[in-house]
Amino acid sequence: MKVVFLGNGEAFDERYPNHAHLVFSEKTVLMLDCGDSAVRQLWKYTKDHSLIDALYITHRHSDHLFGVPALLGRMLEEGRKKDLTIICTEQLKADIERLTEHAYFGINSYGFNINFLIAEDKGQINFNDFKLTFAKTGHTAYCLAIRIDDGKSIVSYSGDGPFDDDTERIYKDADILMHECYMYDVRINGHVAAVDVFEMAKRQNVKCLALAHFKRAFNDETRAKVKEAIPATGLKVILPQPLEEYNT
Ligand SMILES: [Zn+2]
Repeated sequence: MKVVFLGNGEAFDERYPNHAHLVFSEKTVLMLDCGDSAVRQLWKYTKDHSLIDALYITHRHSDHLFGVPALLGRMLEEGRKKDLTIICTEQLKADIERLTEHAYFGINSYGFNINFLIAEDKGQINFNDFKLTFAKTGHTAYCLAIRIDDGKSIVSYSGDGPFDDDTERIYKDADILMHECYMYDVRINGHVAAVDVFEMAKRQNVKCLALAHFKRAFNDETRAKVKEAIPATGLKVILPQPLEEYNT
């Protein structure tokens, strides 16, 4: 699979777009999360309004969700006809319906079908060539991490939040794990410190760990500390920049 890192920032960082990704298999393109700056990153990457087959939203925080009206609005304006699948919890489905109605009142058709698939903690969804599995993280909002298996490789993504044994199963043997990280070694409620992600990635035999979502006030400092620590971890760790690509 191929991953395009759309954004690597936390919620309010003016320098780094919201944490979001594109995942490509031979048959499917899936967007992971959709904050408002992530949508602009998508259109920097492609002008093809039909590129993505599906969108997965990890949790109901604005930096992962509030780009959805702008995403659908541009697809409408540019004449998308292909169905779009949105994968999320029941709560997020209701959120998205309210959000889109509020954002562009009166639009009841985008000119293409939007099909929802409902994700649940410890659940599984088969979509095209993807087997998707989910597990809850310890974030301040209900967040489901995702494991994407196309039969050839495994891509996992945390959304936001710390892991427990169930979440770690989503990351096991991942060819790449995109994990949020807030500080280097300071543990903030609902987020993860780099030192703890390193230990987990070693336990779970993660082949490549992509860290993003650093707290904005300490972004440069945290990056420097992470870079310095990488050789001693024995892990392959990357700090992707927006629109960089990775092949599993
Ligand atoms: Zn969040």
